[in-house]
Amino acid sequence: MKKKLLIDLDYVICYPGFLTLVNKFLKTNYKEEDFTDYIIDDIIGPQEKKEEFYKFYLKHNGYDDAILMDDVKEVLQKLSEEYDIYICTACVMFGIELRSGKLYMDKFNYLIKEFPFLDPRKFIFTNSKNLFDADVQIDDRIHNLQGNVKLKLLYDAYHNQDVDEDTLNKFNVRRVKGWREIEKILLTNA
Ligand SMILES: [Mg+2]
Repeated sequence: MKKKLLIDLDYVICYPGFLTLVNKFLKTNYKEEDFTDYIIDDIIGPQEKKEEFYKFYLKHNGYDDAILMDDVKEVLQKLSEEYDIYICTACVMFGIELRSGKLYMDKFNYLIKEFPFLDPRKFIFTNSKNLFDADVQIDDRIHNLQGNVKLKLLYDAYHNQDVDEDTLNKFNVRRVKGWREIEKILLTNA
């Protein structure tokens, strides 16, 4: 039986385009590395302005502006031959919790367009990622790496730089920087 591999989408497979839309809305040029927290909505302004942005955001599809991580297509293709792959991505978004339905569709359509070799019946859309048992899990947020998983990989990102060695050890998590490193870990002696 193939080993079960759970993979997050945003900031693991791709940059989701959220910041691009923030920049379009604010006419700014922020970069991911300008931030240390995952949620960056406070730069938009007071609640009223945020609400204006959320409406703008929901009229667009962040995945039209998404940027794939280097080498991800090639490595995922190889991994799909050795592992049973489940994409596990949160869809209910901070600030627009009750209007997040559209994000399920945007994510689904992006995944089937970019990764036709993945089985869409194995896409998991949930914010409760710790429910699942797996052999390997890759995510960019440490709080998503607390389930019953043998090998947990934290994908290096702007907002997880403060996760130190002690925390990684405590949760038995290994930090990875890029898909070539993941390939090496998961496909050497696989
Ligand atoms: Mg993520």
